[in-house]
Amino acid sequence: MDGLEHLMTSFVLIALLFPFFGVISLFVLVGGVLFDVDHTLVYASKKRLRSKGISFKKMRHYFMHEHTKKDLKKNIFVFHTIEFLLLLGVLSFLNTLFLMMFLGLLLHLILDWAYEMMFRKAVKNLSVIAWLARAAKLGQKSARKRRT
Ligand SMILES: [Zn+2]
Repeated sequence: MDGLEHLMTSFVLIALLFPFFGVISLFVLVGGVLFDVDHTLVYASKKRLRSKGISFKKMRHYFMHEHTKKDLKKNIFVFHTIEFLLLLGVLSFLNTLFLMMFLGLLLHLILDWAYEMMFRKAVKNLSVIAWLARAAKLGQKSARKRRT
């Protein structure tokens, strides 16, 4: 889902939370918008742009038009995982700032998943643990192929 849509939906959530939490509800923007920063890491590793820098326009085009279903499954977006959401959920018992981030991220993930299911027929990897396990299994398979 696009950053502008995340920004608009986050402001709707902020408007709902503001009467109860006041200015602190602005931290919804961290989970609702800023955690998309993990796309930059995936894009940088895919395009090997370490020295050239990253064009936001090209990156947006890549994720909207070039990023395939296979890419969705191959890469890990660390802030878009159940583990990260659970971490924020646990931290939200300690501080209201984390609760706002948790609520923002929860809305963000629901919208991303709905968008991806409708338009890509697949979602990002939901779990870092499952992603690591699958990567290890693929590594074992390719090692076996090399031996035979
Ligand atoms: Zn996202």
